[in-house]
Amino acid sequence: MSQEATSTADVPLMGTVLAVQANYYQVRLNPSLLAPLSEKGKALRSSPLLLCTRRARLKKLGQQVMVGDRVEIVEPDWAGGRGAIASVLPRKSQLDRPPVANAEQILLVFALEEPPLDPYQLSRFLVKAESTGLDVRLCLNKSDLLTIEQQQQWHNRLEQWGYQPVFVSVRQGNGISEVRNLLKLRISAMAGPSGVGKSSLINALVPTVNLRTSEVSGKLSRGRHTTRHVELFTLPDGGLLADTPGFNQPDLNYHPHELVNFFPEARQRLTQQTCQFSDCLHRDEPNCAVRGDWERYEHYLAFLEDAIAHQEQIDQQADPESSLKLKTKRGRRQYEPKLETKYRRHSRRTQHQALQELYQEADELQ
Ligand code: GDP
Ligand code: ZN
Repeated sequence: MSQEATSTADVPLMGTVLAVQANYYQVRLNPSLLAPLSEKGKALRSSPLLLCTRRARLKKLGQQVMVGDRVEIVEPDWAGGRGAIASVLPRKSQLDRPPVANAEQILLVFALEEPPLDPYQLSRFLVKAESTGLDVRLCLNKSDLLTIEQQQQWHNRLEQWGYQPVFVSVRQGNGISEVRNLLKLRISAMAGPSGVGKSSLINALVPTVNLRTSEVSGKLSRGRHTTRHVELFTLPDGGLLADTPGFNQPDLNYHPHELVNFFPEARQRLTQQTCQFSDCLHRDEPNCAVRGDWERYEHYLAFLEDAIAHQEQIDQQADPESSLKLKTKRGRRQYEPKLETKYRRHSRRTQHQALQELYQEADELQ
């Protein structure tokens, strides 16, 4: 057993989990901290990979290990490329479906054409991405199918939404280096509907992607296409990219009052002025700072209805008597009687419809 990869015996051996399959973890050891920044990407790619198990103690503690986790490795067997994970560093962030730790941003990919860019669907994905609390970057592919003027129109429109989209044509090789720059030295999660060119983009960003997949042997490679398998692709200049298929099934796991925070342009309005009521839902309450003449306000209202229906369902599941509680809650809203009517409009039928829609959407996105 050689010690060449450890500088000194008492420095813990740290690495990043790149792939998880069943009880095996593929871990890339951290490059030397002494590597100059410009060399870091190169160092990241060339540092050794170990196939690791999880120490029994972690299992007992119920400590899950996810891709993106920073872990301490013990008992390295350099010749056999094996090791064991002894501990997991606290996570800076955690995505649950699929499980990815320490991601800093979501790279949302949509196509401008084929399929045509649908503002409502885009909004829905953006809101879902924003709800993770991570930075959200927008990448618009198939720019080869639009004129420069049409691209400019989308650019201006999305700027109003609070985004600076990167225009890409994987087919023509345009914009790829811009995307690379966005992903440099960070963990990012890619999301977007199918057919927009995500796989094509990954292939363009990670030229060795097929090579790397076939490199991984035994238990890891067998799970390549199963849903339980999650993998971080290593980009040539040091970023890590997770393809997040589970992210494509829209769910509404946020509270109605949170929703406004997932619209950058609404957040902007709230920095300039506050609403009269601290529990304002920004519908028809008096002196609301959010309601107004901005394009996606309609989307906000539609998503709010969904979120309220979802919340009512959760309340009811938690406590079958909750309709009474809801009434008490509404009782406090005497300043705004219309609100009461709107709440009540969420009959079982509406909830059912919302659910149906969700299932349909999830099906379409499969
Ligand atoms: P995914 O489902 O998001 O992974 O999408 P794919 O990568 O499988 O691509 C879907 C289709 O879009 C394929 O037929 C690609 O050839 C096509 N495509 C990908 N990128 C581009 C592009 O930049 N321009 C055009 N016109 N087509 C593209
Ligand atoms: Zn308001």
